[in-house]
Amino acid sequence: MAEVTKVVLAESEIPEAWYNIQPDLPSPLPPVLHPGTHQPIGPDDLAPLFPMALIGQEVSQDRYIDIPGAVLDIYKMWRPTPLYRALRLEKALDTPARIYFKYEGVSPVGSHKPNTAVPQVYYNAQEGTKRLTTETGAGQWGSALAFACAQFGIECEVWQVAISFQQKPYRRTLMEIFGATVHSSPSDLTNAGRTIRAQDPESPGSLGIAISEAVEAAAGADDTKYSLGSVLNHVLMHQTVIGEEAVKQMASIGEQPDLLVGCTGGGSNFGGLSFPFLREKMAGKMSPVIRCVEPTASPSLTKGVYAYDFGDAVGMAPMVKMHTLGHDFVPDPIHAGGLRYHGMAPLVSHLKELGLVEAEAIGQVECFERAVQFTRAEGIIPAPEPSHAIASTVREALKAKASGEEKVILTALCGHGHFDMGAYRSFLDGKLEDYEYPEEAVRSAMEKIPAVIG
Ligand SMILES: *Cc1c(COP(=O)(O)O)cnc(C)c1O
Repeated sequence: MAEVTKVVLAESEIPEAWYNIQPDLPSPLPPVLHPGTHQPIGPDDLAPLFPMALIGQEVSQDRYIDIPGAVLDIYKMWRPTPLYRALRLEKALDTPARIYFKYEGVSPVGSHKPNTAVPQVYYNAQEGTKRLTTETGAGQWGSALAFACAQFGIECEVWQVAISFQQKPYRRTLMEIFGATVHSSPSDLTNAGRTIRAQDPESPGSLGIAISEAVEAAAGADDTKYSLGSVLNHVLMHQTVIGEEAVKQMASIGEQPDLLVGCTGGGSNFGGLSFPFLREKMAGKMSPVIRCVEPTASPSLTKGVYAYDFGDAVGMAPMVKMHTLGHDFVPDPIHAGGLRYHGMAPLVSHLKELGLVEAEAIGQVECFERAVQFTRAEGIIPAPEPSHAIASTVREALKAKASGEEKVILTALCGHGHFDMGAYRSFLDGKLEDYEYPEEAVRSAMEKIPAVIG
């Protein structure tokens, strides 16, 4: 087999439909529940927050949903994205494994997030929304939504987790260049923010708190809706353009993955890469092992409980069945801001329960070591989030070296780390620490999750 360094598709090969895994699930997803009544919610309950088109996609049983032409036109600014063979990393590791990575860092904001930001803003614009609110941690999602809002001429208001607002000023600048308004969360602008600040004026914030603020702001204004960058079914579905391209790219060079690895914060880049491969696996066409990698400091899949919990910190957002660390989880200050959410996508959680995907947790020191090794070999600086997938990939490549197995590994390099120099600085200065989420915390979190049958 000829050795390729990268596989690029023509613009005409961008997928024209998203893949919806829901009709292919061996058992259906548990329903979403109302946060007050604990009864299943209907479309009308969600209408204050989301446009009808997205509410429809959230529960759709159609296997494919056509990507609107206006969305495809914007996707063409950076899609199809390249699939790389990490030849130089393989050499550095002296492994017989063949390592491929699908690189989403070529998007305008440097991550996979615009794949869903663009269609979300498009459907809102179609239905007359004038303003979108959202939360952001490290700022990847906020900048993606700000970019998409600039494309469609919609206002964008972002609540950014306080600690990131302080530590990552350049992401805020990027959001403001795109025309967004950015607040540090918890803020004084919402009841949720004021309540948290009254308890803890120095609160570092969390994604759950920022979600509460953005949801409250959208629920209180007619022309305003809310947008979430991960976790929800429609978000994971929009991200399947990644996997659809990768299926074609791998096939075009006659390769099939033995192992797929993605980092999981809310599950969207992982779902986006893996679901089209899972479809092929369920159809008996290939049989890759599919693995989620999360930080030891925020281990929802490996240590959390599978239970109904709120999507936000204060219990305003709907309840979903997912792996959770408890909605009031305030994570240790690890640098992978995108992986510090208390829960996991219901789809990924369900697949984990069904045994169709596996999960592993890795500490941030090993992740940064591997990210630096990756950069020296491949020239691309990974964001701290996908460094988790890279660390797992390297573990596997070293196992393959020991066993002599020519394993084919495909990983999602879902973003570059050009805005994360502070994190790399800490690593190079030897200041990074590992955090292990304690077992007692899992038990006390469970007590705070309302008991809901299901
Ligand atoms: C947001 C983000 C993540 C975490 O979100 P997922 O929904 O799990 O993908 C991971 N990596 C990058 C680069 C991100 O921007």
